[in-house]
Amino acid sequence: MTNSTAPTDEGKRRYPETGGYLTAFVDPIACTCQPTCQPICTGECGCEACGVLFAEFCDEAGCAAETESELERARWRYRGEPIEPR
Ligand SMILES: [Zn+2]
Ligand SMILES: [Zn+2]
Repeated sequence: MTNSTAPTDEGKRRYPETGGYLTAFVDPIACTCQPTCQPICTGECGCEACGVLFAEFCDEAGCAAETESELERARWRYRGEPIEPR
């Protein structure tokens, strides 16, 4: 499998030290975020780099993110916002 994914301009802005790549893991992952993304992206846009970071957070925080509402709550926590009932 060739890794042909290149980071977007927005990805480079979000990971400036690494030129748009998430390098916390063995294989660098390109951030493919768009300017329309949330300031703290959880990979909703399909960005693998941000999605992986978010999954890592869920793991460590021990929060389940399987159902839509669990996922929603995990996103709130990830962004450090208070959890608000809808
Ligand atoms: Zn991203
Ligand atoms: Zn994004």
